[in-house]
Amino acid sequence: MEYCRQCIQPNTRPGISFTDGLCGACRNITSHQQEKDWAAIAQELKSIVVEAKANNHGGYDAVVGVSGGKDSTFQALYAKEELGLNVLLVNCVPEGITAAGRHNIENLIQQGFDCHHVRPNPQVTLEVVKRAFYEHGNPVKPTEYPLYAAVFQVALAFRIPLIILGENPGITLGAAKGIGDGGDALDVNLGNTLAGGNAADWVGDGLELKDLLPYQFPAKADLLAAGIRAIYLGYYVKDFGPDHNIDFSIARGLHGIDIPEWLQKLIGRPQLYSSVDSELQMINKVLKFRKMGFSDVSTNVCRQIREGKMNRDEAIAIAEKYDGYCEPRYIRNFCDYLKIDEDEFWRVVEKWTNRDLFRQDDAGQWVPRFKVGVGLVGP
Ligand SMILES: [Zn+2]
Repeated sequence: MEYCRQCIQPNTRPGISFTDGLCGACRNITSHQQEKDWAAIAQELKSIVVEAKANNHGGYDAVVGVSGGKDSTFQALYAKEELGLNVLLVNCVPEGITAAGRHNIENLIQQGFDCHHVRPNPQVTLEVVKRAFYEHGNPVKPTEYPLYAAVFQVALAFRIPLIILGENPGITLGAAKGIGDGGDALDVNLGNTLAGGNAADWVGDGLELKDLLPYQFPAKADLLAAGIRAIYLGYYVKDFGPDHNIDFSIARGLHGIDIPEWLQKLIGRPQLYSSVDSELQMINKVLKFRKMGFSDVSTNVCRQIREGKMNRDEAIAIAEKYDGYCEPRYIRNFCDYLKIDEDEFWRVVEKWTNRDLFRQDDAGQWVPRFKVGVGLVGP
C-alpha cells in the first residue's frame, strides 16, 4: 500500500496512477486548471454545439443524464442557458428515492425541461443489488449500469447527436484507465464505474438478458454509426467543479443529503451533494473502506489538501478517525430492503474485508494493518 506524497490518496483506488510519488489527481489539478488552453477549448465546445444543432434530425440537440444533483443540475442548465441547446433530460429513478432526491429532480425539471424517466423493474433491481452485495461487496454497482446506459439508449433511440456527461474521473480523481483524461465520453462505460461491464454480467439466477435491457450499454459502433458524440462538460468548462457546481445549483434550488452537521463536515461539501437521491451509496462507503482501506472522508480531506485548506497531518488524523463510518439508520434501511438482519450484513462485510489491509484484534474487531498516509505497518 502506497500513498500519494502530497495528499493521502492510496494506490488501492482502482485505475489510479502515481508518478514520482504523486497521484493522478494531484498532478491534474495543476495541469487541468492552469496549463490548458482555455480559449481553444471554449472554441472546441462551440463547434461541438454547432455540430449538434446541425445534426439534430428535427428533434433534441442534446441529452443530459440527470439525478438532479449538483453536477447534473449545472450540466442541464448550462447546456440550455449558456450553450442554447434544446435539451432532453434522462432521469433514471432509483429504488427508494430519498426526499431530497425527489425534490432535486422535480426542481430541475420545473426550470423548463422535457424529461424522460427510466425506471428499471424494481424486482430485478432488488435481485441484482442483493447479488452485487453478496458477490461483489458493492450493492451500488448494478444500479450504475442503467444510470449510464439509459442516457446512451435514449440518445440512440431518438437519434440525439450529443450526450453531455459531467466530470471525467480521469481528470478529477486521476483514475483515467480506459476513459482517458480528455473531453470525449464515448468510452465512459470502460472506466472504473462500469469497468466495461454490461447487462450480461447480471444474467443468471432466473434473470435473462431480456430482463436486463435497462442495463445494456449500446455498442460503440452503433453510437458512432448514428453520429452520436458524448462529452464530459467538466473538461470544457473551466469553472466546473464541486464547489462551483454546488453554489450554482443551491442558487437554483438544490437540496443536500440529510445527515447530522458533524458528519456533513467530515464527508465534505461535494459528498453532501452527491448521490443525494439514493441511500445505497452510504452502504458502499463501509464496504469500500474494508476492501480498499479508504472511503469518502479520505477523498474529502485529499481535496482539502489540494486546495490548500488542510495540511497532510490534519487530513491523516481525520481520515484515521472517521473514514468508512456510516450512519446506522442507513444500514438498518438497507437490511430492511434486502430482508436480512444486521448480523448478516456484518457477516457479508467481513467476507469482503481485505485481509491484507485489516486484521481481527483480540476482541474480534477488525482493525487496519495500515497507517493512513504511511502504508502497511501492522502485524
Ligand atoms: Zn495526491
